Amino acid sequence: MNAPSSLFNTYNRAPIVVERGEGVWLYDQTGRKYLDFGGGVAVNVLGHAHPHLVEAVKAQAEKLWHTSNLYEIPGQARAAERLCNASFADRVFFTNSGAEALECSIKTARRYHYSKGNPERFRILTFEGAFHGRTLATIAAGGQEKYLEGFGPKVEGFDQLPFGDLDALKAAMTHDVAAILIEPIQGEGGIRSVPTQFLQDIRQLCDENDVLLILDEVQTGMGRTGHLFAYELAGIEPDILASAKALGGGFPVGACLATEEAASGMVPGVHGTTYGGNPLAMAACNAVLDIVLEDGFLDDVKQKSLRFKQGLASLTDQFPDVVEEVRGEGLILGLKCKVNNLDFVKALMEQDMLAIPAGANVVRLLPPLNITDNEISEGLARLEKAAQSLSLKTP
Ligand code: PLP
Repeated sequence: MNAPSSLFNTYNRAPIVVERGEGVWLYDQTGRKYLDFGGGVAVNVLGHAHPHLVEAVKAQAEKLWHTSNLYEIPGQARAAERLCNASFADRVFFTNSGAEALECSIKTARRYHYSKGNPERFRILTFEGAFHGRTLATIAAGGQEKYLEGFGPKVEGFDQLPFGDLDALKAAMTHDVAAILIEPIQGEGGIRSVPTQFLQDIRQLCDENDVLLILDEVQTGMGRTGHLFAYELAGIEPDILASAKALGGGFPVGACLATEEAASGMVPGVHGTTYGGNPLAMAACNAVLDIVLEDGFLDDVKQKSLRFKQGLASLTDQFPDVVEEVRGEGLILGLKCKVNNLDFVKALMEQDMLAIPAGANVVRLLPPLNITDNEISEGLARLEKAAQSLSLKTP
């Protein structure tokens, strides 16, 4: 199917028109049914059309959609309080997307130093392979030429360092550095986990130099790793954290979380948004929190992860000419492929299963966190068929 010509030509869309979804399943216009292990790129944390989310958004839609941040929004205060109670944070600013959550994080870090009388401290250190969004500042933060090309001078103040190189990081810690920004697991970069030791070293370096640690948990957050946020795996805490994607379960919600100290420069008038945290968005966000914060929910994610990872490991053993290794934590998993990852995604689509390509020749698997054991088995069966179709081995 050709893209409608009045849209910007920015996406290479697969020829699928989804009409409705239910749980881990998507149905196209012809009634064809897909097993969705892409989850709208880590967004549909509770699958599609989850009854609790549908009910919450419907009830709010009948009462009030939007008022602006000129007035109190009780749902926003409630979601912020719940996020703070469950994490390192003391303060939250709600946005509509991941990139805006990152923009707010970067501004918060710079304002912290500015308000302490150090306006020269504005540089942000980031890492090769990173992805932080598509705004002018976040493409500068990501530092990838393919996203920067043609958009004029790169926004000043972002220095990119080799991944996992402590010596390079130490050498870059000059007195004008405001913050280090890192994804605990690079998502677009190919489900590449930052070694725990490196995250701990970063935390220590930040403490020694009054540099703030910003974690980009837009993709890894809200339970994806079996923890509410991935930093828990490393036993460290950030000063600032960007969340989005799963935060609204499919409704556009992002957030910048910060400690009281890190947020101290963000005073009235210095930042704002028209839509961010509006009543409708907060109804979705609070409904997601109702479920993700329930006792035992994250333990279940860990169990499911174990099961899924075991299955993927045997897939790797079975088809070493197709899959090289399994990567990731919880239910943010990747298959580093021997074959072209796009071919693998296509072969999966032929099995009516959706997955998402990432950098480093990886296929990303991001099923809903409430997936059942049977659905995991179904996913593994389809992955096996797809791998078989690409393998030189006879069945
Ligand atoms: N940061 C990370 C780690 C992401 O994966 C993404 C999106 O894929 C973003 C930031 C940008 O989020 P958004 O597309 O909602 O602006």
